[in-house]
Amino acid sequence: MFMAAMHSCSICGLHYRNASDAGECHAWCSTHSSCNLAVARRSEEARRGRLRPS
Ligand SMILES: [Zn+2]
Repeated sequence: MFMAAMHSCSICGLHYRNASDAGECHAWCSTHSSCNLAVARRSEEARRGRLRPS
């Protein structure tokens, strides 16, 4: 349901409601080997509590 309208980062697979957030995540993921928590916290996974800090 909600996933259909989501924008996802093709590298880390996180989903964002905002296309710009997804683009920001993708830009970070393509140049860094780790996730940017400042961006990842805006992901749908983080909103739903599925994102576990590593
Ligand atoms: Zn990403």
